[in-house]
Amino acid sequence: MAYPCKYCGFVSYARTSRMLTETVRETYYQCGDYENCGKPFKTYSESCAIEHKRTRLGLRTPIDDRQLELPGLA
Ligand SMILES: [Zn+2]
Repeated sequence: MAYPCKYCGFVSYARTSRMLTETVRETYYQCGDYENCGKPFKTYSESCAIEHKRTRLGLRTPIDDRQLELPGLA
């Protein structure tokens, strides 16, 4: 799993992770720009239920269409 470095924005890679609770994961990353940064940092992610509606084709989509247009990382 890749994630932008919180210090320089370069792609970083997960080194290890652990579940803190049933829904929260702590993940440790290291910046992939080893020559200029290479700093470690950690993130927390939480799984949340999202309500869905069924489409005519039987596919499930989020009820809130804005969820499909999340802004990218700046
Ligand atoms: Zn970095």
